[in-house]
Amino acid sequence: DRGQLSKTSLRFYSLGGGNEVGRSCHILQYKGKTVMLDAGVHPAHQGLASLPFYDEFDLSTVDVLLISHFHLDHAASLPYVMQRTNFRGRVFMTHPTKAIYRWLLSDFVKVTSIGSTSFSDKDENLYTDEDLAESFDRIETIDFHSTIDVNGIKFVAFHAGHVLGAAMFQVEIAGLKVLFTGDYSRETDRHLNSAEVPTSSSDVLIVESTFGTATHEPRINREKKLTQLIHSTVMRGGRVLLPVFALGRAQEIMLILDEYWSQHADELGNGQVPVFYASNLAKKCMSVFQTYVNMMNDDIRKKFRDSQSNPFIFKNISYLKNLDEFQDFGPSVMLASPGMLQNGLSRDLLEKWCPGEKNLVLITGYSVEGTMAKFIMLEPDTIPSINNPEINIPRRCQIEEISFAAHVDFRENLEFIEKVGARNIILVHGESNPMGRLKSALLSNFSALKNTEDEVRVFNPRNCISVDLEFKGVKVAK
Ligand SMILES: [Zn+2]
Repeated sequence: DRGQLSKTSLRFYSLGGGNEVGRSCHILQYKGKTVMLDAGVHPAHQGLASLPFYDEFDLSTVDVLLISHFHLDHAASLPYVMQRTNFRGRVFMTHPTKAIYRWLLSDFVKVTSIGSTSFSDKDENLYTDEDLAESFDRIETIDFHSTIDVNGIKFVAFHAGHVLGAAMFQVEIAGLKVLFTGDYSRETDRHLNSAEVPTSSSDVLIVESTFGTATHEPRINREKKLTQLIHSTVMRGGRVLLPVFALGRAQEIMLILDEYWSQHADELGNGQVPVFYASNLAKKCMSVFQTYVNMMNDDIRKKFRDSQSNPFIFKNISYLKNLDEFQDFGPSVMLASPGMLQNGLSRDLLEKWCPGEKNLVLITGYSVEGTMAKFIMLEPDTIPSINNPEINIPRRCQIEEISFAAHVDFRENLEFIEKVGARNIILVHGESNPMGRLKSALLSNFSALKNTEDEVRVFNPRNCISVDLEFKGVKVAK
């Protein structure tokens, strides 16, 4: 039901990312104002099918659109919204997000246009390079911790961890405060700070539920597993493929491997086992990382100061623009994008290496339902070739998963949710089952407050199903 809103009710409405991971896009309406949160695509789909359900909402009513971070499932339909719909609001993101967004999306245009050559209809392309360039200049940037006010909609960006530039937004309309986490992590890693808890309280919390009620192994164990698994594979002559999203978590894995290679230089160093980062974005994007060291954690800034050299200039990792220049002799380690093996470099290498039983495919990111990365974890006997789906390629290589996806686990999520203290919690960005389990766990955690003034309500709406929350009389405009 999308009838008239009462004057005191807040409406929440997902156009994407409701009971799924992918195409994040949420709408908030309160007192005649409309805010849109994120504008992603779904990585398991192509063309128009990858978009949020934009037809289900009048985008011309949106006042402000906030983009939490540069990942494609949160940002890649933005040029479509700005150039191909009746949207005419203002768009905001942090500085590093905007810097990386530019290169990522021009690569996205390239990859998706190649992917659609098999369609006779070129209109399947969501947008062009020109759309991207035209929309880019109209995107405004926001500094962390400074408040922006657009006609009575106030918002502040807080650090979210997760990837460079990622932000949580606290939005305030007429005294009502809503916190949107985007994707966030609470663990300090090698280069990023963990997510902050905003100092002022929120009435509504919109929070990711990627990992549901699952628990992560401690970071130190995961790093050890990762390096040992890779080390033993290359020692027996195998090749290691790490499918990674071009930017973000890949840099964290590179910091781990570069250090490990230096510590084991006798066996691995000096080109004995080369490590490659294969991405046509590598150089451009690394310069963005080098520029924004000041937004990272103390640990990496200290290394930067002490060594007078940039920690993102790796000693043991070389860049590959494409596979033409790659001579595949002997063991090697390859970080290649895209992270879910949908197409491109990582998919080509997968098809080349998966018949070899000594080889290893190591998944470190979150794999969305319907993608090759998710499928391969079922250890199928064969996989279809991307260029000719009639051809099945035998899969004999080892498949492992060690998560460095930088999303909170249940314990971290619960601790954060308790600190925020909102009485209304809306779950987004999770597959139905983990999200449903998280909802039950939260309700039982807060069961003592049931039927009191402080009762905590938890919602897990599907796409295009609105949640209406009444705030009668409790809010006074400041
Ligand atoms: Zn993300």
